[in-house]
Amino acid sequence: MPEYNIPFFNYRDMIGTDPQGMLATVEEVIRRGAFILQKDLDEFEKNAREFLNVKHFIGVNDGTNAIYLCLWAAGLKAGDEVILPSHTYIATAGAVNQIGAVPVLVECGKDHLIDINDIERAITPKTRAIMPVHLNGRICDMDPILEIARKHKLHVIEDGAQCFGARYKGKSAGTQGLGATISFYPAKVLGCFGDAGGVITNDDEFAKKIKLLRDHGRSEEGEFVCWGTNARLDNLAAAVLDFKLKSFPAAINRRREIASLYDRGLRGLKQLLLPPAPEEDDIHFDIYQNYEIEAENRDGLKKHLEEKGIRTLVQWGGKAVHQIEALGFKTKLPRTDRLFERCLMIPMNTSLKNDEINYIIQQIQAFYAV
Ligand SMILES: *Cc1c(COP(=O)(O)O)cnc(C)c1O
Repeated sequence: MPEYNIPFFNYRDMIGTDPQGMLATVEEVIRRGAFILQKDLDEFEKNAREFLNVKHFIGVNDGTNAIYLCLWAAGLKAGDEVILPSHTYIATAGAVNQIGAVPVLVECGKDHLIDINDIERAITPKTRAIMPVHLNGRICDMDPILEIARKHKLHVIEDGAQCFGARYKGKSAGTQGLGATISFYPAKVLGCFGDAGGVITNDDEFAKKIKLLRDHGRSEEGEFVCWGTNARLDNLAAAVLDFKLKSFPAAINRRREIASLYDRGLRGLKQLLLPPAPEEDDIHFDIYQNYEIEAENRDGLKKHLEEKGIRTLVQWGGKAVHQIEALGFKTKLPRTDRLFERCLMIPMNTSLKNDEINYIIQQIQAFYAV
C-alpha cells in the first residue's frame, strides 16, 4: 500500500469548511419556498458582479448553455464560422454546433491557450466570431485577439468556464469583447452541487438579451417579447454559490499557493514544462483551475504516480476536439497532437494538504531520478 491516497478531486469535500452554515442556507431557502428567479439569485448576481468588478453577471443553468445563449444573443446563424482552440472541452464546439454554426479549430501555444498566430490563418468570409478559451484558470492574451477581431469585424465571445475570478491586466474575462461564460460545475473553482453557470458582460444590450433568452423571451414586465428558452439558474443553486463566494478569495489564494509550491518543487526538472508561476508577470492573475504540465514519458509518469497513490488526469479524456473521430474533423493540428502526448494534470484543489503536495513533488522527482 502506498503511503498516501490522493484523489484527483474530492467531491465529498465540497460541502466546505462550514457544513452547518451551508446546510442552514439550503434549509432556509427550501422552507421559504423560493425556487425560481427569487431574491437569492438577485443577490448572487449582485455579489458576483461586485467580486468580478463587472457591469453584468447573469446566472444560467450551466456553462454549455451559457455559450449557446451568448452565440444566440450575438446573432450567430447556420453556416457562420466560429474560431476556437481544439484544446478545449467538447462543450465549446458543441454549443457552436447547436446554434447551427461551424466550429473552426486552431492550435494552442506554449501556455496551452489559443495560439494567436493561428487565428488569422483560419479566418474566411464566413467567420463571425473568435472564441478564446481561458483554460486552466488563465486568461488568454486578449489584446492581440481584440485587435484581430476589430480588423476583421468579428465578435469576441470568451469561454471562461474555467476562469471565474481570473484577471488580465486587472480585468475580468467578458469585459472587453461581447461577453464571457462561466461554469459552476462541481469540480470548477467555484463549484455548485450540480450544474450551474453564468454570463459576464459589460455590454448593456447584450446583458438584456441574455436575460430575455434564459427565460423564454420574457421581459421584466412579464411580456414575451422574443423567442427564448429555459436556461435559468436555480434559486437554490444561486444561494449555495452565494454562500461559497464568501470564502472564494481564500480558495483562490490557496490554489495560487499550491501552484507556487509545485513551481518551486518541480522547476528544476528538465523533463517537464510547467504552467506559468503565479508571480511570473503583472499581466495575468491566474486562479489555477488546473495545474497542467507537459512531461517526457507522460504515460510512464502517470502510471508511476498511480502506483504511489496519486491520481492524475489527461484533460478531456485524452483527446483534443479535432481528435474525436465521431465528429469528423479533417483539421490537422500537429502541435496540439504533440501536446496531447505530453500533457498531464496533477492534483490542484483546496482539499490538498502541504504534506500531500510535497509527497507528489517527491514522487515526480523520484520518477525522473532513475
Ligand atoms: C466545464 C467547461 C464547459 C462546460 O460547462 P458545463 O457547466 O459543464 O456545461 C465549457 N468549456 C470549458 C472549457 C469547460 O471547462
